Amino acid sequence: MKNLLAGLAVGLLGASCVAQGPVGAKAVVLHAARMVDVASGKVVAPGEVLVEGERIVAVGAKVERPTGVEVIDLGDVTLLPGLIDVHVHLFLHPGAEDLQTVQESVPQRVLIAADAAKKDLMAGFTAERDMGTEGAGCADVAVRDAINSGLIPGPRMRVSCNAVDLTGGHEDAIGYNPAQHVLSNADYANSVGDLVRVIREQRKGGADFTKIYETGKDSYEGGVLKTPYQYTEVELKAAVAEAARTGGVGHGVSVHATGEPGTGYAVAAGVESVDHAYVLSEATMKAMRAKGIFAVPTFAISEYFVEQAGAEGKAKRRAQQDFHAAEFKKQMTAGVPFAVGSDVGPFPHGTQAREMVLMGRYGLQAAEVLRADMIHGAKLLGWEGKIGELKAGYFADVVAVKGNPLEDLSAVERVVFVMKGGVIYRKD
Ligand SMILES: [Zn+2]
Repeated sequence: MKNLLAGLAVGLLGASCVAQGPVGAKAVVLHAARMVDVASGKVVAPGEVLVEGERIVAVGAKVERPTGVEVIDLGDVTLLPGLIDVHVHLFLHPGAEDLQTVQESVPQRVLIAADAAKKDLMAGFTAERDMGTEGAGCADVAVRDAINSGLIPGPRMRVSCNAVDLTGGHEDAIGYNPAQHVLSNADYANSVGDLVRVIREQRKGGADFTKIYETGKDSYEGGVLKTPYQYTEVELKAAVAEAARTGGVGHGVSVHATGEPGTGYAVAAGVESVDHAYVLSEATMKAMRAKGIFAVPTFAISEYFVEQAGAEGKAKRRAQQDFHAAEFKKQMTAGVPFAVGSDVGPFPHGTQAREMVLMGRYGLQAAEVLRADMIHGAKLLGWEGKIGELKAGYFADVVAVKGNPLEDLSAVERVVFVMKGGVIYRKD
């Protein structure tokens, strides 16, 4: 691949005759054999996008060509809006999740996170939500800001600092000599007062939103999934209210929650998404549909763990994934809205487009998967009307893939071109 970072951003056009866009910004037409209109789920052929500066100016089968415009013919590929992953961990890498906080310094982890951000962007992900640094505090704020200032390549980021958890809860360092004071991967909050204090501290540190562990640790007893809750509905309501005090859509609370009663408490409290969502009661599904609360299935990480497991564990993990897939079908039928989040980090960054393939395999139609990823993803991140579609006035976050994802979703794993904010980062 060829890194053309900043190639367009600094390009100058002497006498631009395009009305919109920053003064002096170069106009570019992206031309491809096809383009997907994600909102309608239809292919436009050929597909063209006129970009000026960081914005899209026009979209269609044939767009105007202002004087001096550069036409980039990408050939037999499909143009799509930039991919969105609403559940990533830039600070995690394969094989290091549990003891990473103990073994790796925060500076070391920041460098790893910067590399992860680049890998995700090169794979076509132009916007992401980081669901907790897992022990690196608000170091994700530094990564987000370095990306935004153009210092390092990466997606547009929503970040949460550490996740929030109970003492002895899902993400605490349990099973070590207490005298060694092994740190939790999350920030402790054990009461309404604690939750409000931690949220205020994290927002002061630069967090965009709040991630709370609401269930765990899970166990399967006689094939039945047990998901102990962490916070009561009253506690979660206080957290949601505090988040709402300082931010709007995209700045609320999202939960790691695999089942009842925790998922129900979270939905009643008004969280923005329920991540993992293995099993939801009828009442919870109904409420999610009514309130527009997204379920984020995170199939890709479970699939990775199925593959990594030894002979004995494999069958058990496969059965769990099959159980989740069956529940996912019930959620589809109930009209639960979905967003696409892979939980990448414990598996290699840059490979998470697979999440979309798996959602398709487990029953969601390709057009619905793309809508969940781009349109719902943009909404969940608080960037509705700015990203997630190829439309005039939107940020020029555009990718090209080999093949047609409406016919074969695995096309999203074959990204050959990446533009973010009008800057080309990849052109094979
Ligand atoms: Zn996660």
